Amino acid sequence: MGGRCTLASTLAEKDERLPVYEYEGMYVAGKWSPTSGPRIEVRSPASGVVLGRVSEASTADVGVAVDSARAALDHGPWRNWSPAERAAAISALADAIESRTEVFADLISAEVGSPRKWTPFGQLATALGVYRSCAAIAPDYEFEAKRPSLIGGEVLVRRVPVGVVAAIVPWNAPLFTAALKMAPALAAGCAIVLKPSPEAPLGLSMLSECIEEAGIPAGVVNIVSGGIATGEALVEHPGVDKVSFTGSTGAGKRIGAACARDIRRVTLELGGKSAAIVLDDVVVDAKLIKGLVTGVMANNGQICAAQTRILLPRSRYDEILEPFAAAVAAMRVGDPTERETEVGPVINKAARDRIEAAVSGAIEAGARVVAGGTRPDGLDGGAYVNPTVLADVDNDMAIARDELFGPVAVVIAYDGDDEAVAVANDSEYGLAGAVWSADPVRAADVATRMQTGSVSVNSPAPLDFGSPFGGFKKSGIGREGGPEGIATYLESQSIIL
Ligand code: NAD
Repeated sequence: MGGRCTLASTLAEKDERLPVYEYEGMYVAGKWSPTSGPRIEVRSPASGVVLGRVSEASTADVGVAVDSARAALDHGPWRNWSPAERAAAISALADAIESRTEVFADLISAEVGSPRKWTPFGQLATALGVYRSCAAIAPDYEFEAKRPSLIGGEVLVRRVPVGVVAAIVPWNAPLFTAALKMAPALAAGCAIVLKPSPEAPLGLSMLSECIEEAGIPAGVVNIVSGGIATGEALVEHPGVDKVSFTGSTGAGKRIGAACARDIRRVTLELGGKSAAIVLDDVVVDAKLIKGLVTGVMANNGQICAAQTRILLPRSRYDEILEPFAAAVAAMRVGDPTERETEVGPVINKAARDRIEAAVSGAIEAGARVVAGGTRPDGLDGGAYVNPTVLADVDNDMAIARDELFGPVAVVIAYDGDDEAVAVANDSEYGLAGAVWSADPVRAADVATRMQTGSVSVNSPAPLDFGSPFGGFKKSGIGREGGPEGIATYLESQSIIL
């Protein structure tokens, strides 16, 4: 099957529970077309077996994909669709994804290492929530409005699609991070070139089936695979009007600089080192402990908004630390495709080594291991790290400052709400956070003092699909989600009548 996915069942190296996904070429103008770049192998972080292959798009291939998006925008039927018709297509896309929930969940658990019992919610329901929320907002979004002119007469303010969007996403939540770009860009009437991460391109290659099934016109969504070179070719292509990037702060700085050179619009969703503040009136119950554990350990600690710094009141430090550490130590680590697994591997062995080195450095700096800190037994074939809690951490230590992107919580003691807020805000990041208290009004007040894009009260949930999500400080520029997310894919034009 030229270019399309083929499922091999005979490769000796494959994991017997999954087919090997072969995506050849790139998805452009509504079909899989050949590319000139080499093949990229996608390996399981749990075992190292080959799960599939995609093709790397060269600079020339990227040009073809951008041209396809431009043609769909300038000459295709898409620009004549009403907001309600575009919203219906976004809903249909969500339906097509939902109908494949089990297949996507198996595949994404295998390629990312997300625990299979979490994936239908964490990787899929979240993506569906984004598409459906956007489809609900889009029909009534004010794409045009008249207002009185201050020089007499009226002004027609139009909000027009920004144009061709380069959507570059990381591996940790491929469907979800892509949804946060695709849904608002489609609602705004843009055309897209989507670039998955080379670590997890298979689920997003499969998304091409859903795009076709949803009836989105050919060329409106194009998919190119590859790593940094492919991403750079996309970011620097003169035919791209806007870059929407989710990934590390380091890559975000380079992409922001490249966009600045050409005055290209850019949204950056970057890293984090979020804090969960536990106030001194908190009730220590199963909800609190589960919330703290989920806030940091979900997706094996590989969530941008993970609440990795746990701030405990010194007066109740041991009372909260002990059940938290016990709950983390009891987590079941193992093969992510097994239904009982609570913590799978991190994305690869290089990430595991980096995490282990950071934990060793923290211990040398004075942190105390109260859970984990070791590799699990019998799982040497994968990139496993036991979920770890480091107590007695000082907010100045590297482990409290640098994003680790792994299953490691640091616990920091504080005295008084003011100090808790100061410690939470003493970070170059500002993506998310949580406040836990018996008094939700007090908690909400503390939340308003945190310099961070979103804060949850008595819950680990880092975002609400209908509301803006994004970073203060080095966690990014711009917002995704809600009407604010659609606005970033529009240019305002004033017609003075
Ligand atoms: P990464 O920055 O290494 O890569 C992200 C994507 O950008 C990949 O597709 C990669 O190929 C591409 N890329 C990297 N350098 C590039 C460049 N110079 N030009 C163009 N493209 C480039 O990040 P990662 O390891 O894939 O993901 C983990 C990071 O993503 C963490 O820092 C995490 O916090 C962040 N993240 C942020 C959010 C958010 O919404 N703020 C969500 C998920 C993940």
